[in-house]
Amino acid sequence: MDAIKTDVVIVGAGPCGLFAVFELGLLDLKCHVVDVLDKPGGQCAEFYPEKPIYDIPGTPSCTGQELTDRLLQQIRPFDPEFHYGEMVESLEKLENGNWLLRTDGGKVFEAPVVVIAAGGGSFMPKKVTLPNAAEFEGKSLFYAVRKMENFRDKRLLIVGGGDSALDWTLNLQPLAKSTTLMHRRQEFRAAPDSVNKAFGMVDAGGLSFIAGNLSGLHGSDGQLEAVSIKPTDGGEEIHHECDNLLVFYGLTMKLGPIAGFGLNLHENRIVVDTEKFETSVPGIFAIGDINWYPGKLKLILSGFHEAALMAQQAKRIAHPGQKVLFQYTTTSTALVSKLGVAA
Ligand code: FAD
Repeated sequence: MDAIKTDVVIVGAGPCGLFAVFELGLLDLKCHVVDVLDKPGGQCAEFYPEKPIYDIPGTPSCTGQELTDRLLQQIRPFDPEFHYGEMVESLEKLENGNWLLRTDGGKVFEAPVVVIAAGGGSFMPKKVTLPNAAEFEGKSLFYAVRKMENFRDKRLLIVGGGDSALDWTLNLQPLAKSTTLMHRRQEFRAAPDSVNKAFGMVDAGGLSFIAGNLSGLHGSDGQLEAVSIKPTDGGEEIHHECDNLLVFYGLTMKLGPIAGFGLNLHENRIVVDTEKFETSVPGIFAIGDINWYPGKLKLILSGFHEAALMAQQAKRIAHPGQKVLFQYTTTSTALVSKLGVAA
């Protein structure tokens, strides 16, 4: 695949990666943003979309999702390009001085500047721990839905009690041949509205529900034929036939491939200076929760400050010879025009 060429590649669409688009955009730097998740917002959108945050300056209270939505609105004038569901796996230096990044989905990016805003690392699904689970992973056992069409006319078993499990149950049920939702108990973490809709489907006969835990996987050559289920009420083990198993046990965060990028690390975080937030390798910056320096606080507002200072040096690298002017958005007609707002 041809490399996508741009000024800056940002690894991570959490709040700090999103705000970096704004600071870089003010300096005329075009950004592509890559995230392994299928949506922006990082921890804010994944872990606490409906919980209020009280320490964003000038915003007495907003939820994790509201902050994400406002950041997306704020960066819209700079037209960033997002690549979701892609994990940045490697980083190499080219002879022309640029960086080449590759993702697990086969995308390739070339840029003079890379900003790592990868938070605690990439979100990894908590996996099924049964001994033969690996045999089925990616073939008939999945931890994410990349393409809904793949589940058409399948006998589907969806496991989990959170929003992902319930949302995918509601979305895939109309496509699948049959759908069963399984959770270890009757109480769900998912939004009550989704739970009510799902149990409405159960009442109407379009969905089955089992309270239980997976105890065995059966099939051959990666293709599941059935699973064994231990019912929560202690009843006899159930033999449940299915073609595809979708498991949503939640996510954990791991540094992942970034650990192999050759950058200086301190306790699994990337060491940066506090003037430019550049790593031990010139042209590669790290902002937000992923970085470390003496006194670092893992707060969103710290990442916003880091993005502003990082952008100054990123500009010098990406557009050498151009002056970096310090300007206020309130008084600079040039910045006002870039933002597309009336002076
Ligand atoms: P993240 O939000 O972690 O986003 C990083 C993104 O990078 C993720 O989307 C991840 O998928 C992606 N990524 C990582 N590696 C790769 C890769 N190799 N390829 C592609 N994508 C990758 N902070 C506050 O300031 N105030 C609060 O009130 C507050 N409350 C919190 C409550 C909870 C429950 C939690 C868990 C955190 C809270 N925080 C709070 C912390 C705050 O959420 C983090 O400081 C913030 O999310 C860090 O932003 P980030 O952009 O650096 O990283």
